Amino acid sequence: MSPVAGDRGTRQASVAVLDRRGRPLQPTRPGRARELLSKGRAVVIRVAPVFTIRLKDRSEEGSVVDGVVVGVDPGSVGTGIAVVVERGSLDTSRGEVHTSRTGIWLGELVHRGLAIKQALQARAGLRRSRRNRNLRYRAPRFLNRTRPPGWLPPSLRHRLDTVESWLRRLARWFPVTGIVIEQVRFDMQLLQHPNIAGVEYQQGTLAGTNVREYLLAKWERACVYCGATDVPLNIDHIRARARGGSDRVSNLTLACIPCNQAKGAMPIEEFVTDPARLHQIMAQAKAPLRDAAAVNTTRYAIVRRAESLGVRVATSTGAVTKWNRTRLGAPKTHALDALAVGDLDALTGWPASTSVIRCTGRGRYQRSIVTAAGFPRGYFTRQKRHYGFATGDHSRAFVPDGTKAGIYFGRVAVRATGSFNITTTAGTVQGLHHRHFTLIQRADGYAYTQKGTTS
Ligand SMILES: [Zn+2]
Repeated sequence: MSPVAGDRGTRQASVAVLDRRGRPLQPTRPGRARELLSKGRAVVIRVAPVFTIRLKDRSEEGSVVDGVVVGVDPGSVGTGIAVVVERGSLDTSRGEVHTSRTGIWLGELVHRGLAIKQALQARAGLRRSRRNRNLRYRAPRFLNRTRPPGWLPPSLRHRLDTVESWLRRLARWFPVTGIVIEQVRFDMQLLQHPNIAGVEYQQGTLAGTNVREYLLAKWERACVYCGATDVPLNIDHIRARARGGSDRVSNLTLACIPCNQAKGAMPIEEFVTDPARLHQIMAQAKAPLRDAAAVNTTRYAIVRRAESLGVRVATSTGAVTKWNRTRLGAPKTHALDALAVGDLDALTGWPASTSVIRCTGRGRYQRSIVTAAGFPRGYFTRQKRHYGFATGDHSRAFVPDGTKAGIYFGRVAVRATGSFNITTTAGTVQGLHHRHFTLIQRADGYAYTQKGTTS
């Protein structure tokens, strides 16, 4: 089934609608939301990252709510999230269910795992040096560390916590009936299944994408013969098929096009002249991929967290996502990967812009700024709020005249002097007077911006 052309990538993100008691109803178009607001039938609840309104005269009981599905593509730096309307129709000719999706909201959650890791390493360094000062009143402490079962490093736990938190938030604003999560990159069971070791992998079938993803991971995305990276890689038979080599994954490797053609049907013993390298290739070919299922603890844990939300949770593989995305002609972004997770036959559209949700935290306890040598360089004020604003508040600044004249929307950074900074998508503008600012939404530990979905 070919994808439906038309408004793909040009529609606006939908507006979330709550009933008079704050329960989610079916989302609506921005135009309809404007109409409801201008007639006084609705109020704005939230602006970013999901524009949310509450209807004053409607309750869930009297409304038709079809529900939406949330797709999740977990990553180490960012996690793609897509809210989709899914339509299933029965294809009578094939007797299969045909699933079509329309993306109504796209988001990318940018984690701060690296920042957390660095902060903890800095703290560990300070504590280590303090212990090594060997003060005689300090009682010896060792072998006193325990980790509770299920412990995860703080940077990974942060990823889990924020993804779960965002699934819960989305379920408050949208009528979520199901969640689809990309759990692993490729399906080991599919690889071990004898049928897929057949020739099908070359025809770009799902099994083929699965084999390719597996080989890319196993051979580290490089030509096995010359070590070239960032070049197109062909699937190469270590023992050529012309010489009776099989199609099993243990006989497959990756080679750049020149090496692949130069080798042809030549036995590998003749093509690779360095005996040490030959031994290495043969050993690696036989060995299964290190941590065979490419188990990503965080991804499994994300699935368990999602199950705690009490909606239907389905899992899929990265190979399926990639296959869907390329077959349906969607560009590669985190958010569009989330849109293409799981069983899918057609994509009818997606929003032109993606909400970028950056984890910023809510400030720090430390009140003094120190130099690299640990001497105080300056101080934060005791209170966080100045002139009605706190750092991180989503606000609007209207500067009527001067060199910085203009209207800015973004995240404010406050100073006790009343001279504020504002960070917009375009950059930071410094030293604006607090009287120019209007509050849009209070800080909640995240910074919200927009970016083009395909740019
Ligand atoms: Zn090569």
